[in-house]
Amino acid sequence: MAKELTKEQRAIIEDSIRDVKDFPKPGIIFKDITTLLNNKEAYATLMQHLHDRYKEYDLDYIAGIDARGFIFGAALAQMLGLGFVPIRKKGKLPYTTISQKYSLEYGFDEIEVHIDAFGEKDAAKVLIIDDLIATGGTANAAAELVNQTGAKCVACCFIIGLTFLDGIKNLKEKTEVYSVIEVN
Ligand code: AMP
Repeated sequence: MAKELTKEQRAIIEDSIRDVKDFPKPGIIFKDITTLLNNKEAYATLMQHLHDRYKEYDLDYIAGIDARGFIFGAALAQMLGLGFVPIRKKGKLPYTTISQKYSLEYGFDEIEVHIDAFGEKDAAKVLIIDDLIATGGTANAAAELVNQTGAKCVACCFIIGLTFLDGIKNLKEKTEVYSVIEVN
């Protein structure tokens, strides 16, 4: 498969994502990727596309963001023959971690990664993946975290990018950003 999706392939992926209104609270349209995952054609089309896009990046690791980033990240790492690293919500990882706080609409949250997750190599090349970028707060913190370990976040990938928010624009100041499906 070519690196670019055809119109038909894009439609297969886009049509498989379900919009759930007012979840988890009124006014939010939740992009539900469980209907992409249980659609074998959409899931295979997506994963093959990600494989073909990132196989030329000479990556060392794929890092997935808790929790839906694990599903795509672990599958992609296996397809590319790379190791997978989970970036988790605070308090879930058992060994020594480094952590990064980030702002939410109200308050803050914190994500962590194992201090030795990206091995011994200096500036190991890391692709961060998550299902969706909205404000970009989570992905920005994840990129900071990866760089703090001594590895390098060379790109971030999202299945869905909400382009009416500034998340993608802001993250692009730090690293390369790609969203498979853009929602305007
Ligand atoms: P943000 O930090 O604002 O970019 O939010 C991104 C994180 O929140 C991702 O891990 C998404 O899974 C989740 N998220 C935010 N908004 C939505 C949405 N409308 N639908 C599904 N997931 C969302």
